[in-house]
Amino acid sequence: MTRPAQPHYSIAVLAGDGIGLEVMPPAQRVVELVAEHQGFTVAWTEYPWSCAWYHEHGAMMPADGIERLSAHDAIFLGAVGDPSLPDHVSLWGLLIPIRRAFQQYINLRPALLLPGVSSPLRDTTQGIDILVVRENSEGEYSEVGGRVFPGTADEIAVQEAVFSRRGTERAIEFAVSLARSRKKQVVSATKSNGIIHSMTFWDDVFRDVMAKHPDIEGRLMHVDALAARFISHPHDLDVVVGSNLFGDILTDIGAVIVGSMGMAPSANLNPTGEFPSMFEPVHGSAPDIAGRGIANPIGQIWSAAMMLEHLGRPEAHDVIMRAVRHVLGETDIRTADLGGSATTAEVAEAVLAALRAELEG
Ligand code: NAD
Repeated sequence: MTRPAQPHYSIAVLAGDGIGLEVMPPAQRVVELVAEHQGFTVAWTEYPWSCAWYHEHGAMMPADGIERLSAHDAIFLGAVGDPSLPDHVSLWGLLIPIRRAFQQYINLRPALLLPGVSSPLRDTTQGIDILVVRENSEGEYSEVGGRVFPGTADEIAVQEAVFSRRGTERAIEFAVSLARSRKKQVVSATKSNGIIHSMTFWDDVFRDVMAKHPDIEGRLMHVDALAARFISHPHDLDVVVGSNLFGDILTDIGAVIVGSMGMAPSANLNPTGEFPSMFEPVHGSAPDIAGRGIANPIGQIWSAAMMLEHLGRPEAHDVIMRAVRHVLGETDIRTADLGGSATTAEVAEAVLAALRAELEG
Protein backbone atom coordinates (compact mmCIF):
# COMPACT_ATOMS: atom_id res chain seq x y z
CA MET A 1 0.00 0.00 0.00
CA THR A 2 2.72 2.44 0.83
CA ARG A 3 5.02 4.18 -1.61
CA PRO A 4 8.75 4.77 -1.08
CA ALA A 5 9.53 7.89 0.95
CA GLN A 6 10.53 11.00 -0.98
CA PRO A 7 12.11 14.22 0.28
CA HIS A 8 9.38 16.33 -1.34
CA TYR A 9 5.69 15.81 -2.06
CA SER A 10 3.36 17.63 -4.37
CA ILE A 11 -0.21 17.44 -3.08
CA ALA A 12 -3.40 18.53 -4.87
CA VAL A 13 -5.86 20.10 -2.43
CA LEU A 14 -9.58 20.06 -3.15
CA ALA A 15 -11.21 21.57 -0.07
CA GLY A 16 -14.60 21.50 -1.83
CA ASP A 17 -17.73 22.81 -0.16
CA GLY A 18 -19.23 23.49 3.25
CA ILE A 19 -17.15 22.26 6.17
CA GLY A 20 -14.55 20.92 3.72
CA LEU A 21 -13.31 24.51 3.54
CA GLU A 22 -13.13 24.68 7.34
CA VAL A 23 -11.42 21.40 8.19
CA MET A 24 -8.86 21.45 5.37
CA PRO A 25 -6.58 24.31 6.63
CA PRO A 26 -6.01 22.75 10.10
CA ALA A 27 -5.08 19.42 8.50
CA GLN A 28 -2.62 21.19 6.20
CA ARG A 29 -1.00 22.89 9.20
CA VAL A 30 -0.62 19.51 10.92
CA VAL A 31 1.11 18.08 7.84
CA GLU A 32 3.40 21.12 7.57
CA LEU A 33 4.45 20.87 11.21
CA VAL A 34 5.31 17.18 10.90
CA ALA A 35 7.15 17.75 7.62
CA GLU A 36 9.24 20.51 9.16
CA HIS A 37 10.35 18.21 11.99
CA GLN A 38 10.80 15.03 10.00
CA GLY A 39 12.84 16.51 7.17
CA PHE A 40 10.53 16.52 4.17
CA THR A 41 8.63 19.23 2.35
CA VAL A 42 5.11 19.45 1.00
CA ALA A 43 3.91 21.78 -1.77
CA TRP A 44 0.14 22.28 -1.89
CA THR A 45 -1.67 23.13 -5.11
CA GLU A 46 -5.18 24.30 -4.32
CA TYR A 47 -7.95 23.58 -6.81
CA PRO A 48 -11.26 25.37 -6.14
CA TRP A 49 -13.36 22.68 -7.86
CA SER A 50 -16.62 22.39 -5.98
CA CYS A 51 -20.35 23.09 -6.25
CA ALA A 52 -19.57 26.82 -6.13
CA TRP A 53 -17.19 26.33 -9.06
CA TYR A 54 -19.95 24.41 -10.88
CA HIS A 55 -22.31 27.38 -10.61
CA GLU A 56 -19.70 29.59 -12.30
CA HIS A 57 -18.40 27.15 -14.91
CA GLY A 58 -21.16 24.60 -15.49
CA ALA A 59 -18.95 21.66 -14.48
CA MET A 60 -17.42 20.30 -11.30
CA MET A 61 -13.91 20.50 -12.76
CA PRO A 62 -12.32 21.68 -16.01
CA ALA A 63 -11.92 19.34 -18.99
CA ASP A 64 -8.22 18.87 -18.18
CA GLY A 65 -8.90 18.37 -14.45
CA ILE A 66 -7.83 14.74 -14.33
CA GLU A 67 -4.66 15.51 -16.29
CA ARG A 68 -3.75 18.31 -13.85
CA LEU A 69 -4.33 16.09 -10.83
CA SER A 70 -2.22 13.31 -12.34
CA ALA A 71 0.90 15.43 -11.84
CA HIS A 72 0.62 15.20 -8.03
CA ASP A 73 1.79 12.56 -5.56
CA ALA A 74 -1.60 12.49 -3.83
CA ILE A 75 -4.95 14.25 -3.73
CA PHE A 76 -6.25 15.62 -0.44
CA LEU A 77 -9.99 16.23 -0.47
CA GLY A 78 -12.29 17.95 2.02
CA ALA A 79 -15.93 17.35 1.10
CA VAL A 80 -18.08 18.07 -1.90
CA GLY A 81 -21.82 18.73 -1.95
CA ASP A 82 -24.24 21.61 -1.60
CA PRO A 83 -28.02 21.77 -1.34
CA SER A 84 -28.03 24.02 -4.44
CA LEU A 85 -26.92 21.11 -6.66
CA PRO A 86 -28.24 17.54 -6.85
CA ASP A 87 -25.80 15.20 -5.08
CA HIS A 88 -25.44 12.90 -8.08
CA VAL A 89 -24.16 15.87 -10.13
CA SER A 90 -21.43 16.74 -7.63
CA LEU A 91 -20.47 13.12 -6.97
CA TRP A 92 -20.37 12.01 -10.60
CA GLY A 93 -18.76 15.27 -11.71
CA LEU A 94 -15.74 15.07 -9.44
CA LEU A 95 -15.20 12.22 -6.98
CA ILE A 96 -16.24 9.27 -9.11
CA PRO A 97 -14.27 10.42 -12.20
CA ILE A 98 -11.18 10.85 -10.00
CA ARG A 99 -11.59 7.43 -8.36
CA ARG A 100 -12.05 5.77 -11.74
CA ALA A 101 -9.44 7.65 -13.80
CA PHE A 102 -6.79 6.94 -11.18
CA GLN A 103 -7.92 3.34 -10.61
CA GLN A 104 -8.44 3.98 -6.91
CA TYR A 105 -10.11 0.64 -6.63
CA ILE A 106 -9.73 0.32 -2.86
CA ASN A 107 -11.51 2.52 -0.37
CA LEU A 108 -10.02 1.95 3.04
CA ARG A 109 -11.95 3.10 6.08
CA PRO A 110 -10.81 2.32 9.62
CA ALA A 111 -13.40 2.27 12.40
CA LEU A 112 -11.18 2.56 15.45
CA LEU A 113 -12.47 3.71 18.83
CA LEU A 114 -9.92 6.14 20.29
CA PRO A 115 -9.38 6.73 24.01
CA GLY A 116 -11.64 9.37 25.55
CA VAL A 117 -14.27 9.05 22.85
CA SER A 118 -17.62 7.65 23.85
CA SER A 119 -19.48 5.37 21.50
CA PRO A 120 -23.26 5.37 21.32
CA LEU A 121 -22.97 1.61 21.97
CA ARG A 122 -23.59 0.53 25.57
CA ASP A 123 -20.55 -1.67 26.06
CA THR A 124 -17.26 -1.04 24.30
CA THR A 125 -14.94 -2.45 26.95
CA GLN A 126 -13.48 -4.85 24.38
CA GLY A 127 -12.69 -1.96 22.02
CA ILE A 128 -13.56 -1.40 18.35
CA ASP A 129 -10.93 -1.79 15.66
CA ILE A 130 -12.47 -2.67 12.31
CA LEU A 131 -10.83 -2.02 8.96
CA VAL A 132 -13.33 -1.86 6.13
CA VAL A 133 -12.12 -2.45 2.58
CA ARG A 134 -14.71 -1.17 0.14
CA GLU A 135 -14.49 -2.05 -3.54
CA ASN A 136 -14.32 1.41 -5.08
CA SER A 137 -14.51 1.19 -8.84
CA GLU A 138 -17.46 -0.96 -9.92
CA GLY A 139 -20.33 -2.89 -8.35
CA GLU A 140 -23.59 -1.12 -7.72
CA TYR A 141 -22.20 2.33 -8.57
CA SER A 142 -22.27 1.73 -12.30
CA GLU A 143 -23.25 3.94 -15.19
CA VAL A 144 -25.07 1.12 -16.93
CA GLY A 145 -28.82 1.63 -17.01
CA GLY A 146 -31.42 4.15 -17.97
CA ARG A 147 -34.98 5.27 -17.77
CA VAL A 148 -37.77 4.43 -20.16
CA PHE A 149 -40.95 6.48 -20.62
CA PRO A 150 -39.70 9.29 -18.36
CA GLY A 151 -42.31 11.35 -16.61
CA THR A 152 -45.19 8.99 -17.43
CA ALA A 153 -47.09 6.48 -15.33
CA ASP A 154 -45.23 3.75 -17.28
CA GLU A 155 -41.79 5.05 -16.30
CA ILE A 156 -39.19 2.35 -15.66
CA ALA A 157 -35.68 2.71 -14.19
CA VAL A 158 -32.98 0.09 -14.69
CA GLN A 159 -29.61 0.20 -12.90
CA GLU A 160 -27.14 -2.57 -13.54
CA ALA A 161 -24.57 -3.61 -10.95
CA VAL A 162 -21.31 -4.62 -12.60
CA PHE A 163 -18.94 -7.09 -10.95
CA SER A 164 -15.79 -8.32 -12.66
CA ARG A 165 -13.62 -11.18 -11.45
CA ARG A 166 -10.56 -8.91 -11.61
CA GLY A 167 -12.23 -6.12 -9.64
CA THR A 168 -13.70 -8.43 -7.00
CA GLU A 169 -10.55 -10.50 -6.64
CA ARG A 170 -8.22 -7.53 -6.13
CA ALA A 171 -10.47 -6.02 -3.43
CA ILE A 172 -10.59 -9.31 -1.53
CA GLU A 173 -6.85 -9.91 -1.99
CA PHE A 174 -6.20 -6.42 -0.59
CA ALA A 175 -8.35 -7.22 2.46
CA VAL A 176 -6.41 -10.46 2.98
CA SER A 177 -3.09 -8.61 2.81
CA LEU A 178 -4.26 -6.22 5.55
CA ALA A 179 -5.64 -9.02 7.72
CA ARG A 180 -2.25 -10.73 7.69
CA SER A 181 -0.74 -8.03 9.94
CA ARG A 182 -3.86 -7.92 12.16
CA LYS A 183 -6.04 -10.71 13.60
CA LYS A 184 -5.97 -12.69 10.34
CA GLN A 185 -9.73 -12.62 9.91
CA VAL A 186 -11.69 -11.38 6.90
CA VAL A 187 -15.47 -11.10 6.84
CA SER A 188 -16.99 -10.58 3.43
CA ALA A 189 -20.32 -8.76 3.09
CA THR A 190 -22.70 -10.59 0.78
CA LYS A 191 -26.38 -10.85 -0.01
CA SER A 192 -26.36 -13.97 -2.15
CA ASN A 193 -29.66 -15.17 -0.71
CA GLY A 194 -31.46 -12.30 -2.45
CA ILE A 195 -29.11 -11.06 -5.17
CA ILE A 196 -28.59 -14.36 -6.89
CA HIS A 197 -26.25 -13.51 -9.78
CA SER A 198 -23.72 -10.89 -8.76
CA MET A 199 -23.56 -11.84 -5.09
CA THR A 200 -23.20 -15.58 -5.67
CA PHE A 201 -20.39 -14.58 -8.06
CA TRP A 202 -18.83 -12.42 -5.30
CA ASP A 203 -19.04 -15.39 -2.90
CA ASP A 204 -17.37 -17.74 -5.44
CA VAL A 205 -14.50 -15.29 -5.94
CA PHE A 206 -14.20 -14.88 -2.16
CA ARG A 207 -13.91 -18.66 -1.69
CA ASP A 208 -11.34 -18.90 -4.52
CA VAL A 209 -9.21 -16.16 -2.98
CA MET A 210 -9.46 -17.57 0.54
CA ALA A 211 -8.43 -21.03 -0.70
CA LYS A 212 -5.09 -19.47 -1.66
CA HIS A 213 -4.58 -18.10 1.86
CA PRO A 214 -5.14 -20.88 4.40
CA ASP A 215 -3.50 -18.77 7.14
CA ILE A 216 -6.41 -16.28 6.99
CA GLU A 217 -9.85 -17.12 8.35
CA GLY A 218 -12.52 -16.07 5.87
CA ARG A 219 -16.23 -15.80 6.57
CA LEU A 220 -19.17 -14.74 4.41
CA MET A 221 -21.98 -12.85 6.13
CA HIS A 222 -25.16 -11.41 4.71
CA VAL A 223 -24.85 -7.66 4.83
CA ASP A 224 -27.98 -7.17 6.92
CA ALA A 225 -26.68 -9.55 9.60
CA LEU A 226 -23.25 -7.94 9.32
CA ALA A 227 -24.73 -4.46 9.82
CA ALA A 228 -26.34 -5.77 13.01
CA ARG A 229 -22.99 -7.31 14.02
CA PHE A 230 -21.33 -3.87 13.75
CA ILE A 231 -23.72 -2.80 16.52
CA SER A 232 -23.96 -5.96 18.65
CA HIS A 233 -20.43 -7.44 18.43
CA PRO A 234 -18.08 -4.86 16.84
CA HIS A 235 -15.13 -6.26 18.83
CA ASP A 236 -15.49 -9.57 16.92
CA LEU A 237 -14.74 -7.91 13.57
CA ASP A 238 -11.25 -7.40 12.15
CA VAL A 239 -11.07 -6.77 8.40
CA VAL A 240 -14.37 -6.46 6.53
CA VAL A 241 -14.56 -6.44 2.73
CA GLY A 242 -17.60 -5.39 0.75
CA SER A 243 -18.85 -4.15 -2.57
CA ASN A 244 -19.11 -0.44 -3.33
CA LEU A 245 -22.62 -0.02 -1.91
CA PHE A 246 -22.29 -2.42 1.02
CA GLY A 247 -18.95 -0.91 1.99
CA ASP A 248 -20.41 2.59 1.80
CA ILE A 249 -23.25 1.75 4.15
CA LEU A 250 -21.21 -0.32 6.60
CA THR A 251 -18.61 2.42 6.96
CA ASP A 252 -21.19 4.98 8.02
CA ILE A 253 -22.17 2.57 10.79
CA GLY A 254 -18.47 2.13 11.52
CA ALA A 255 -18.05 5.91 11.74
CA VAL A 256 -20.84 6.51 14.23
CA ILE A 257 -20.05 3.58 16.55
CA VAL A 258 -16.55 4.99 17.06
CA GLY A 259 -17.86 8.37 18.08
CA SER A 260 -18.87 10.58 15.19
CA MET A 261 -19.00 11.01 11.44
CA GLY A 262 -16.60 13.89 12.02
CA MET A 263 -13.83 11.54 13.16
CA ALA A 264 -13.75 8.96 10.38
CA PRO A 265 -10.94 9.02 7.78
CA SER A 266 -10.68 7.29 4.43
CA ALA A 267 -8.23 6.52 1.66
CA ASN A 268 -9.07 5.92 -2.00
CA LEU A 269 -6.07 3.88 -3.00
CA ASN A 270 -4.45 3.03 -6.27
CA PRO A 271 -2.41 0.19 -4.77
CA THR A 272 -0.15 -0.16 -7.81
CA GLY A 273 1.16 3.37 -7.29
CA GLU A 274 0.71 4.14 -10.98
CA PHE A 275 -1.66 7.03 -10.21
CA PRO A 276 -2.19 9.36 -7.25
CA SER A 277 -4.38 8.11 -4.41
CA MET A 278 -6.95 10.35 -2.74
CA PHE A 279 -7.51 10.90 0.97
CA GLU A 280 -10.68 12.36 2.47
CA PRO A 281 -12.79 12.19 5.61
CA VAL A 282 -15.85 9.93 5.40
CA HIS A 283 -18.14 12.84 6.18
CA GLY A 284 -19.70 15.17 3.65
CA SER A 285 -19.96 18.96 3.50
CA ALA A 286 -22.43 19.05 6.44
CA PRO A 287 -24.50 22.04 5.26
CA ASP A 288 -26.37 21.96 8.58
CA ILE A 289 -23.29 23.17 10.48
CA ALA A 290 -21.21 24.78 7.70
CA GLY A 291 -20.00 28.33 8.33
CA ARG A 292 -20.25 28.09 12.12
CA GLY A 293 -16.67 27.00 12.84
CA ILE A 294 -17.80 23.98 14.87
CA ALA A 295 -16.95 21.10 12.53
CA ASN A 296 -14.74 18.38 13.96
CA PRO A 297 -11.41 18.58 12.11
CA ILE A 298 -10.18 15.15 13.28
CA GLY A 299 -11.52 13.15 10.30
CA GLN A 300 -9.55 15.44 7.98
CA ILE A 301 -6.43 15.34 10.18
CA TRP A 302 -6.61 11.52 10.43
CA SER A 303 -6.99 11.35 6.63
CA ALA A 304 -3.80 13.44 6.37
CA ALA A 305 -2.06 10.88 8.59
CA MET A 306 -3.22 8.07 6.28
CA MET A 307 -1.95 10.07 3.29
CA LEU A 308 1.51 10.46 4.82
CA GLU A 309 1.63 6.75 5.68
CA HIS A 310 0.77 5.93 2.07
CA LEU A 311 3.51 8.30 0.91
CA GLY A 312 6.12 6.30 2.82
CA ARG A 313 6.04 8.30 6.06
CA PRO A 314 4.67 5.88 8.69
CA GLU A 315 6.45 7.79 11.46
CA ALA A 316 4.51 10.94 10.44
CA HIS A 317 1.25 8.98 10.61
CA ASP A 318 2.12 7.63 14.05
CA VAL A 319 3.09 10.96 15.59
CA ILE A 320 -0.09 12.65 14.30
CA MET A 321 -2.22 9.85 15.74
CA ARG A 322 -0.39 10.09 19.09
CA ALA A 323 -1.26 13.81 19.19
CA VAL A 324 -4.92 13.10 18.32
CA ARG A 325 -5.08 10.36 20.98
CA HIS A 326 -3.56 12.76 23.51
CA VAL A 327 -6.15 15.48 22.85
CA LEU A 328 -9.08 13.07 23.01
CA GLY A 329 -7.77 10.92 25.83
CA GLU A 330 -6.14 13.51 28.08
CA THR A 331 -8.15 16.70 27.57
CA ASP A 332 -11.80 17.66 27.28
CA ILE A 333 -11.19 19.75 24.15
CA ARG A 334 -13.63 18.38 21.60
CA THR A 335 -16.31 19.59 19.22
CA ALA A 336 -20.06 19.32 19.79
CA ASP A 337 -20.43 16.07 17.82
CA LEU A 338 -18.25 14.44 20.53
CA GLY A 339 -20.19 16.09 23.34
CA GLY A 340 -17.87 19.08 23.79
CA SER A 341 -18.13 22.79 23.10
CA ALA A 342 -14.80 23.54 21.40
CA THR A 343 -14.58 25.14 17.97
CA THR A 344 -12.78 23.69 14.96
CA ALA A 345 -9.94 26.15 15.62
CA GLU A 346 -9.64 25.18 19.29
CA VAL A 347 -9.42 21.46 18.50
CA ALA A 348 -6.92 22.19 15.74
CA GLU A 349 -4.76 24.27 18.13
CA ALA A 350 -4.88 21.49 20.74
CA VAL A 351 -3.77 18.88 18.18
CA LEU A 352 -0.98 21.16 16.95
CA ALA A 353 0.22 21.79 20.52
CA ALA A 354 0.20 18.06 21.32
CA LEU A 355 2.02 17.39 18.07
CA ARG A 356 4.65 20.01 18.84
CA ALA A 357 5.19 18.40 22.25
CA GLU A 358 5.52 14.95 20.65
CA LEU A 359 7.93 16.19 17.98
CA GLU A 360 10.06 18.28 20.31
CA GLY A 361 9.87 16.02 23.36
P1 NAD B 1 -22.62 14.68 6.13
O1 NAD B 1 -21.52 13.75 6.46
O2 NAD B 1 -22.22 15.96 5.48
O3 NAD B 1 -23.43 15.04 7.48
C1 NAD B 1 -24.11 14.03 8.24
C2 NAD B 1 -24.24 14.52 9.69
O4 NAD B 1 -22.96 14.45 10.32
C3 NAD B 1 -24.68 15.98 9.78
O5 NAD B 1 -25.55 16.14 10.88
C4 NAD B 1 -23.39 16.73 10.02
O6 NAD B 1 -23.53 17.93 10.75
C5 NAD B 1 -22.56 15.70 10.81
N1 NAD B 1 -21.12 15.87 10.52
C6 NAD B 1 -20.49 15.50 9.37
N2 NAD B 1 -19.20 15.84 9.46
C7 NAD B 1 -19.03 16.43 10.64
C8 NAD B 1 -17.89 17.00 11.29
N3 NAD B 1 -16.67 17.02 10.73
N4 NAD B 1 -18.07 17.55 12.52
C9 NAD B 1 -19.27 17.52 13.11
N5 NAD B 1 -20.37 16.99 12.56
C10 NAD B 1 -20.24 16.45 11.33
O7 NAD B 1 -23.66 13.89 5.23
P2 NAD B 1 -24.96 14.40 4.45
O8 NAD B 1 -25.67 15.42 5.28
O9 NAD B 1 -25.65 13.18 4.02
O10 NAD B 1 -24.41 15.11 3.15
C11 NAD B 1 -24.20 16.51 3.01
C12 NAD B 1 -23.59 16.78 1.66
O11 NAD B 1 -22.29 16.19 1.61
C13 NAD B 1 -24.38 16.19 0.50
O12 NAD B 1 -24.35 17.12 -0.55
C14 NAD B 1 -23.62 14.93 0.16
O13 NAD B 1 -23.75 14.55 -1.18
C15 NAD B 1 -22.20 15.35 0.46
N6 NAD B 1 -21.29 14.25 0.77
C16 NAD B 1 -20.05 14.35 0.27
C17 NAD B 1 -19.10 13.40 0.57
C18 NAD B 1 -17.72 13.56 0.04
O14 NAD B 1 -17.36 14.63 -0.40
N7 NAD B 1 -16.90 12.54 0.06
C19 NAD B 1 -19.43 12.33 1.43
C20 NAD B 1 -20.73 12.27 1.95
C21 NAD B 1 -21.65 13.24 1.62
